[in-house]
Parts: sequence; C-alpha cells; structure tokens
Amino acid sequence: MSFDGTAIGGTAQQWTGMRGIGSVPSYVIMQPTTLCNLDCSYCYLPHRAHDRRMPVSVAEAVAETVNDWATDAPRFSVVWHGGEPLSAGREHLAALMAPFRGVEHHIQTNATLIDDEWCEFFAGHDIHIGLSIDGPEWMTKRRVDRGGRPAYEKIRKGIEALRRHGIPFAVLSVVSDPGPGLAAELYSFVADLGATVLGVNVEEQEGVNLRPNGHEADAVRAFWAELTAAWRRDPRLEVREVEWALRYAGAVLAGAADTLLPRRHDPIPTISHDGHVVLLSPELAGFSSPQYGDFTSGSVRDRPLREIVASTAAAPTGWIAEYLRGVEACRASCEFFGFCGGAHAANRFFEHGRFDGTQTRHCRNSKIFLLEGVLDHARAA
Ligand code: SF4
Repeated sequence: MSFDGTAIGGTAQQWTGMRGIGSVPSYVIMQPTTLCNLDCSYCYLPHRAHDRRMPVSVAEAVAETVNDWATDAPRFSVVWHGGEPLSAGREHLAALMAPFRGVEHHIQTNATLIDDEWCEFFAGHDIHIGLSIDGPEWMTKRRVDRGGRPAYEKIRKGIEALRRHGIPFAVLSVVSDPGPGLAAELYSFVADLGATVLGVNVEEQEGVNLRPNGHEADAVRAFWAELTAAWRRDPRLEVREVEWALRYAGAVLAGAADTLLPRRHDPIPTISHDGHVVLLSPELAGFSSPQYGDFTSGSVRDRPLREIVASTAAAPTGWIAEYLRGVEACRASCEFFGFCGGAHAANRFFEHGRFDGTQTRHCRNSKIFLLEGVLDHARAA
C-alpha cells in the first residue's frame, strides 16, 4: 500500500514499540456496579441485570496506589464504567470517589438517567462525561430497555440536561453495519448535539454478544472515508479514529512512523465490583474460560494494586504471556503494526478462543480498513 508513493506500512524490524507491559498505567477503570438499566442488543456485559455494587473498601484500596501514581503523573484518569455507573446512585458514587486525590474522574454513561441533580453532581466533582448514542433515532434502535422499548428519547433528555448546565461531553457511537451512506449523517448529528469528541466503535463480537462482525472491506473503507470527508468539510469536533489515522499518516510522511506507539502496553487495570483486577482488556472482566480461568491478576483485597500490576508486568504468565506472543506475531507479519500495535486481547479471545493469533475481524474493521479508508479519502480529495 502507498500514500502518494510513500509506504504506509512497515517491516517487523522497524517497529520498536509495544514490547512488554508497563508497570504504571495512565488510567484505571472502576466498575461501581454491574447493573445497567438498559439491555442493548449488542451489549457484551454478562451480569448487567444484577446490581453487584463495589464496596467503598475496594475503592479505598485502589486509591492507596492510584493516589501515588497520580502524584507522579501530569495527568491520571479514573474511568467509572459499569454496567451503567449512574445506576449506583449519587451517594454511593460520591463515597467511591472520595478516597481519590489528584485524579481526573471520567464517567462513561448511557445518559438515560442524567437529570439536573446528576448535572450538579458532575459539575461539583469535575467529572468528564462520555455518553453513548449511535446517531439519530433510526441508528440508535439497538439501544433499548429491558422491556425492548427504545432508549433514544431518554438519551436525548439526558443530553439536553447536560447542555442546559453547560457540561461538555464526548460521544461514543456503535456502528453495527458500516457502509456507505451512514457516516455523514452520523457526523452531523453528533456535531449538532454539541459533543466535543466523536469516537466510533464498529460493533465487536465479544462477551455475550455473538452477533457476527465480518463486513466487506469496500463497505467499511467507504464508511471511514465518508466520515473523514464529513469531518474535513465541517471540523467542529474531534473524531477520535480519524485523528489517530491522520497522525499516523503524518508521521509516515515525516519519516517518524515508529515514534507513535507507546514503548510498552499500558496495563489498563480494570477493577471489578468485587476488587478483582483484570489487566489490558476491560472486556474480559467478569468472564472465565476452562483454559484461562477468570483472567484476573489478583484482588486489591489481598495485595496493593501497584504490586499486582508490577509483578504481572515483570513476569507475565498465562493468557497475558500468550497475548504478548500474539503481539510479536503481529509485529513480524502485519504491515499495519506501527498504527495498531497489536490491538486488543479481548477481541483475539472472543474471536479466536485464544490470544496468540493475529488478525481479527475487529482489527480489520477498526484498524486496517480505518487507515485504508482515511487514505482513500486523502487520495480522492
Ligand atoms: S491486530 Fe490486526 S491490524 Fe493490528 S497488528 Fe495485528 S494483524 Fe495487524
């Protein structure tokens, strides 16, 4: 593949990033409850009908390590991600946040519970909001409640409350069938909502969501090309995936393609409601397999989080060691490695049943076809 005559891919020798796992993350993910008030048809979460809440003692144990990490970092985020985090209620969420010092709090929400009281809570705790809506009503039809009723109107009401209170928000949209004729409408809808950032997830086959995610290359490339064109016509907000791809293309043109990947994998600890820690892939939390067990690296009830992360990073075993072998297989075989870095462990497991394979349907949809689609737009422009 080339971009105006410049090779966009690379060779195994060229890529020096993503070797091993770092011992300090840039953020942690906290599960305040497993419960979600919605029942979206593409959801991967196994326990979303049950309200298993994180005790404050778990948050205190996590904060003991995280507060030190935050002291040493220019910026450190705690991301509250359920279930639906707002299902835990304001009082409990405030109690869970209280032990943390010097961190940036983020909440990823379905927005249906947001009202004036929640907006005051967000403002009072300086919380960054990411919310999920898949586009106009017809695109958001897979977001439904437990009775199968569309959640769209409730989401819109939540967004209106945020706007009334002047609270900025990012939007995450799931696209189930990427193809031509979707992206421009999605982009202008999200821009008109007043979001600051749009992130697009092509629906993934993972967890309890077994819907197939194989798509024609041309259709997915056309989707990404159209999204890029929409953003270039009217760059009112950041489009996460397009920015990544353009940053990579710019680095290739500047002869600096190998500088973009982090040197090591961010361990991204996810702390489940009961204190168990899953590294690298939040989507694996709550799952288990006969071959790999429950994917956890320990519990903050037994050991400090810093020890759990540092010991796993120093001597990876089990599924994590297998995943790192898969990343090396990607480095040796895939011309997109400098852009992708080996993608996510959970997608390998849920698509291949193991971690040391390489290409997945997810990486084709969201890495390979993304970069090719953005470049298709650049060539045509
Ligand atoms: S995950 Fe896919 S796109 Fe990424 S390096 Fe591996 S094969 Fe390439």
